[in-house]
Amino acid sequence: MKVHIHETVQRLMELEVLVARLRDLRRNYETTASVEALIESLCSSLPLPVLLDHRRWSAEGRQSVAEVRGQCCSACGDLLPRMELAALRRGALKRCAQCGRYFYLVEADQLRPV
Ligand SMILES: [Zn+2]
Repeated sequence: MKVHIHETVQRLMELEVLVARLRDLRRNYETTASVEALIESLCSSLPLPVLLDHRRWSAEGRQSVAEVRGQCCSACGDLLPRMELAALRRGALKRCAQCGRYFYLVEADQLRPV
């Protein structure tokens, strides 16, 4: 399995998990300070335009990342041009031209004949 996740996308994924955790903690009236500190730290490590996208989409209840599956965006189904896919494999930060989500790519290993 080969995973292509830009550092920024990795941080966005961590951020979304933490935001969901924070929501759960608040729902149960538990202490949230440590989770809030982690969220703040992650937010400060993201490029500003990415952070603004994340905040806008988060307020709308949308995820800010999407997996590329079979050359398509798993969120909206838009087809990725081959050049975009190649750039993702090289580690570039890419987003969907249709829905704007930031991409990550997980590829199964090629099966080799025995
Ligand atoms: Zn999309």
